[in-house]
This record gives sequence, C-alpha cells and structure tokens, in this order.
Amino acid sequence: MKKESIGCTLFEGGQVGGLLRYANRVENYLGHHGLDGHSICLKFRQHLLDMGVDLRHERVGSVRRAEAGFMLNTPSGDERYSRLIVATGTTPRKVPLEGAFYFIEEASRHSGSRVLVVGGGDIALDNCIRLRRAGAHPTLLYREGIRANAMLREEMENEGIPMEKGDIHGIQKVGSGYSHKRSEYDHVAVFIGREPDLELVRHLDIGEVRLPCGEADIEGLYIIGDAVLGRFGQATLAAGMGLAAAMHIGLR
Ligand SMILES: Cc1cc2nc3c(=O)[nH]c(=O)nc-3n(C[C@H](O)[C@H](O)[C@H](O)COP(=O)(O)OP(=O)(O)OC[C@H]3O[C@@H](n4cnc5c(N)ncnc54)[C@H](O)[C@@H]3O)c2cc1C
Repeated sequence: MKKESIGCTLFEGGQVGGLLRYANRVENYLGHHGLDGHSICLKFRQHLLDMGVDLRHERVGSVRRAEAGFMLNTPSGDERYSRLIVATGTTPRKVPLEGAFYFIEEASRHSGSRVLVVGGGDIALDNCIRLRRAGAHPTLLYREGIRANAMLREEMENEGIPMEKGDIHGIQKVGSGYSHKRSEYDHVAVFIGREPDLELVRHLDIGEVRLPCGEADIEGLYIIGDAVLGRFGQATLAAGMGLAAAMHIGLR
C-alpha cells in the first residue's frame, strides 16, 4: 500500500506477526529460513515502522458498511475507511475438557511439568518441541496419524519426545491434573486445528472470496490469510494474498 502511495492503517489487537511468533523454526519463508517465528515477527514490525505504516495496537470491535466504505468501531471511536482488508486469522478448535490449554504460552509457563499435547499436525509437533526446550516434559497424543512435515517428525525423534496413539476421550481429569492410559500429566494442551475467525464480517453478505487477492462480493472488502486459506494456512501465502490485495486496490 505504501509503495502505491495509498494511506493505510494497520490495526493489530495482539502482536505483529500473529500466529507465526509461535513457530520454532521457519523453513519456508524465502530469505528467512532457519529463523524462529518470533525473530521473523520482530523483522515484520521493523519493516512496518521503516515504511511508515500507521500501526495501531488496537482491537477492532466491529465493522459495518458505510457510505462508500466501511465504518470500524475501534477503542478510539468510529472510523471510516474506503477499503478494508481483513486478516484476522483463526481461533483454536476447542474440546470439552476442563482446564485444557489452547495457547502455548499457557503451557510453557510450567517448566518441569508433564504436558500431554493433543494433535497430530505441524502445530502440535512444533509446540511439543517448544515445550521440551522450555524445560517441560511433553508427550504427543495423536488420533489417527501424524500429519506433520518430515522435518518436525525428525526433530521430535531427535528430542526423544514420546508419541502415543489415542483419543482425547480417554483423558480423565484427576484432581488438579489428568490421566491417560495409566500415565499422569499436569496439563493437557490441545492443538487439533483452528477455525477461521470471521467474526468481524460474519453479518455482512461477503459471498465468494476470490484468490489471489481475497476480493469478496462486497466492493472494497478483502479477506486474506488463514481466515480463508484453511489447511493451506501459511505465512508466505498470507503475505502473498496481502500483496495481491494491495495491488488490486492500487490498480483500481
Ligand atoms: C506453531 C506454528 C508454527 C508455524 N510455522 C509456520 C512456518 O514454518 N511457516 C509458515 O509459513 N507458517 C507457519 N505457521 C502458520 C502461520 O503462522 C500462519 O499461516 C500465519 O501467521 C497466518 O497469518 P494471518 O495474518 O492470516 O493470521 P494470524 O497470524 O492468525 O494473525 C491474525 C492477527 O489478527 C489479529 N486480530 C484478530 N482479530 C482482530 C481484531 N478484531 N482487531 C485487531 N486485530 C485482530 C490478531 O491479533 C493476530 O495478530 C505456523 C503456525 C504455528 C502456530
């Protein structure tokens, strides 16, 4: 946007880089391979500051359509924008298990504790490795198979992290901890997928979201990144969609 000399404001309710900050090691982001997600996110932030992007650490409460654009309700009041790019990502899929963690920060605070990590995808394995490095004792519980990439599987083996086949329904809450197949755990951390977070635009008639720029059926509305990419959710693709949306806006 800045390159096209179009003024833009970025509202970030959490931290710049979103979910990527949890990645142990990013291997598929050109020019940044081998770095951890947190370091890459710091680079993203610096890039935004260097480009003079108006970065606001504020959560957008709601969006409604306004004359020739969109009205955003922000902590500073209502603000109108002519175009809106929604990149709100995803929220974790939850299970009915009291006290389960869904964010790695919650689990990694407990160095030395035994953590049963539920899931079989990249995020579950990545988080097991992160927990091990934070001094915890993770065990992976997967249901059908491990669907994570080969590099993460190899790292799990190198770290000697146990992997067990089983189901979340076999976990029981016992006092302040949990048990599963005669083993005891202090915590259960669940990473079994994520759902698109389209809360801000759910009430709008967004229709079809078209690739590559995430253009919706409403003039001026774009939805990009994990919020629409489903199982293809990756930082590189999210950034690519953002670029496509900016180009689409610039060309109009
Ligand atoms: C452990 C782990 C490892 C990963 N490893 C890799 C990897 O190696 N390579 C790779 O390419 N990808 C990796 N990913 C995936 C990558 O992190 C995501 O694909 C990418 O972050 C998606 O970006 P996004 O902007 O679409 O969504 P998110 O990263 O989820 O960001 C959404 C952002 O929107 C903000 N937000 C939400 N609602 C509001 C609101 N109402 N107002 C203001 N702000 C709001 C949130 O605070 C958040 O920062 C990994 C993910 C995890 C969890």
